[in-house]
Amino acid sequence: IATLGVMGGGQLGRMFVQAAQEMGYYTAVLDADPVSPAGLVSHFHIQTGYEDAAGLAELAERCDAITTEFENVPAPALQTLAASRPVAPAASAVAVAQDRIAEKAHFVACAQAGGVGPAPYAALETEADLAAVGDLLLPGILKTARLGYDGKGQARVKDRAELAAAWDSMGRVACVLEKMLPLKAELSVIVARGADDQVVNFPVQRNLHRDGILAVTEVFDGNVPAELAERAIATTATVARQLGYVGVLCVEYFVIDDGSEHGGLVVNEMAPRPHNSGHYTINACDCSQFELQVRAMAGLPLVQPRLHSPTVMLNLLGDLWFQHGQPVEPPWAQILALPGAHLHLYGKLQARPGRKMGHLNLTGASVEQAQATALRCAELLGMAPWR
Ligand code: ATP
Ligand code: MG
Ligand code: MG
Repeated sequence: IATLGVMGGGQLGRMFVQAAQEMGYYTAVLDADPVSPAGLVSHFHIQTGYEDAAGLAELAERCDAITTEFENVPAPALQTLAASRPVAPAASAVAVAQDRIAEKAHFVACAQAGGVGPAPYAALETEADLAAVGDLLLPGILKTARLGYDGKGQARVKDRAELAAAWDSMGRVACVLEKMLPLKAELSVIVARGADDQVVNFPVQRNLHRDGILAVTEVFDGNVPAELAERAIATTATVARQLGYVGVLCVEYFVIDDGSEHGGLVVNEMAPRPHNSGHYTINACDCSQFELQVRAMAGLPLVQPRLHSPTVMLNLLGDLWFQHGQPVEPPWAQILALPGAHLHLYGKLQARPGRKMGHLNLTGASVEQAQATALRCAELLGMAPWR
């Protein structure tokens, strides 16, 4: 029996492991946390840091192929594993996604090949870079080049004085400064690419972020103007191909208000793994993003997934486990009484505000039904409505 391994034990790893097990694989997780969501459900849990030589050796020893669920797994660790086992995505592709400066340069190269380009930006690494920042980029968002997620490692700056102060407070680490854009909507596209260059895609996801964290994803026919959807899908495939990427890749987009009917499309960032905005695929598609990750890394055929139900995904953040500062259990029985409500919890032992504890996929026979169920869930949970 073959064993598939994953670097990282978070919820993405957990859902990957579950998909792999459904297909008969044994699974191994490397994560130092003894109660990591993926480690808890995996056959083998190697409890070491990502760079621990013995841990990496054990993972390679146990596994026939290895992937990653955490985008900040050190690329050299993936390189080490790749010396003895197939690793997908490759360290070189993950390294581009881990560094906003390299990532933006990759998007620019893809735009030259006909894809959608990024927001106007500048790399900020030296004093001279700071002095050279053009007025066009302000007001802007300063983002650390490495290790940011959920809006962490970002500062919104109005002018040069705020920019200099924000960069100082980040310790002058390498950053990108992006022009602040007037967003009409946020989208994401998930593709899977095989080693044989086959690329398949999920439909375009429409995402709502709150406080820098994904809150709601809606997917149904017509949720995005066809012309924008086609360009976003084509660009995502180009981004994957030009990286020689193998596995599941998500690319985030902005729709900006540029005076045109549907708005302009800008590429934001990528994640070298299954993505939070793709969790709906478990219940609304005939093949989930996690199954495609299994197939891609195991060298199995990829298939174009089909959305069979209009769907809304609600992220369940730790905030929902508290009311007036007191711990509470969210009203699952009332939620699960709703047809089309699919509850996913990640087995995290401690709820904390802002922590991703689980998600709800709400499916329906019609868009209206899925949306009505989602709005009812939001009401039951005390979440703000979005429409
Ligand atoms: P993730 O958790 O998705 O990896 P992140 O911390 O890497 O997030 P971004 O996706 O770059 O951060 O930005 C977070 C959010 O901030 C975006 O989803 C968007 O709502 C807003 N944002 C980022 N860049 C811009 C911009 N240039 N103009 C306007 N809004 C922006
Ligand atoms: Mg990010
Ligand atoms: Mg993002």
